Amino acid sequence: MIYLDHAATTPVPRAVADAMYAVLTEQFGNPSAQYAMGLHMKNQVSVWRETVARALDCPPGQLHFTSCGTEGDNWAIQAALWQNRHLGRHVVTTAVEHSAVGQACAWMEKQGCEVSYVSPEADGGISAEKILSAVRPDTALVSVMLVNNELGSVYPVSEIARGLQEKNPKTLLHTDAVQGFLKVNCSARALGADFVTVSAHKIGGPKGIGALYISPRVRNPRPLLPGGGQEGGLRSGTEATAQIAGFAKAVELRTENLAQKLAHMAAIKAYAVEQLCAIDDLTIIGSGTAPHILAVSLVGWPSQNIVNDLSEQGICISAGSACHQGKPSHVVAALKLPKRTAGGVIRLSFGPETTQADIDACAAALRRHHDTRLPML
Ligand code: PLP
Repeated sequence: MIYLDHAATTPVPRAVADAMYAVLTEQFGNPSAQYAMGLHMKNQVSVWRETVARALDCPPGQLHFTSCGTEGDNWAIQAALWQNRHLGRHVVTTAVEHSAVGQACAWMEKQGCEVSYVSPEADGGISAEKILSAVRPDTALVSVMLVNNELGSVYPVSEIARGLQEKNPKTLLHTDAVQGFLKVNCSARALGADFVTVSAHKIGGPKGIGALYISPRVRNPRPLLPGGGQEGGLRSGTEATAQIAGFAKAVELRTENLAQKLAHMAAIKAYAVEQLCAIDDLTIIGSGTAPHILAVSLVGWPSQNIVNDLSEQGICISAGSACHQGKPSHVVAALKLPKRTAGGVIRLSFGPETTQADIDACAAALRRHHDTRLPML
């Protein structure tokens, strides 16, 4: 199998699975238990929290484990609107957020919030000025992702944070950094956001575990789950110790020689651009600079057919995270591309394990698809 869908999820290295297995079978104590095994687990959870917090460059006390990136996004949006409930109910976000943010905002609209969705340029870029110009005195929250999951566009989160400080310092800033974590500079301190969401399964960790950084500017964060008081009383529920252990192990492995891994992914992406651009009717979509995501269109050939055809040959790529029944995803739609271009958008995404041979096989399959299948009218 050739796996070119690392933005969807990533393989879990053996060492991560082993770390989880040991917790599930031997060190299974509840961190709230008062005997040695529980106390040991409590201590281990703090060590694992420190590992993830170090990678996110934030104090461990401000990092809260969640069940996934989607949960972190939803919590951040609710907590920001709660904290700023006396300021207003206006939210600024983009038209190209992952649905974890997009749908959470849509839900808030149903509850009386007003949401401004800032559109990208045709290349997928969005400037800090464009975001800031949508901010009003009653803007409670700005939510802008760090790296777009379909295009690889990197958005200017730290510039937006600085601009907000000048324009409306009470407005809180959230960034969904699920695709940015350990792929681009993702220091919570440097980003200056009040909430930063990450998820383990995009970096070689297990599914079902993520984390949310909450800055001290959020004085009394709204608890997501009131209950037994875990996660500083903000997100109760017995800690998912095996998932947390797996998350920390994945961070540890990924941060080893990280610069080299990122350079490798960037080189693979450059090689893919070179190989794919030699295919007739294939064009690059957007100007995304994240090292692991490349969006292209085989103009005129429906993306779902391409995905199915390559899948039959054991090659996994994606038609965009929300391509339903031949309709382009909301991200592709926001680019306002010609219909035949939008219809042919596919995403290739890479990991440290991806090789040039993987790209060669994918390019050959795409060329065959182009040469043997009929395009749409
Ligand atoms: N945000 C972005 C940008 C993503 O790419 C994803 C997953 O694809 C999520 C949020 C959701 O993360 P999770 O699958 O951990 O809920």
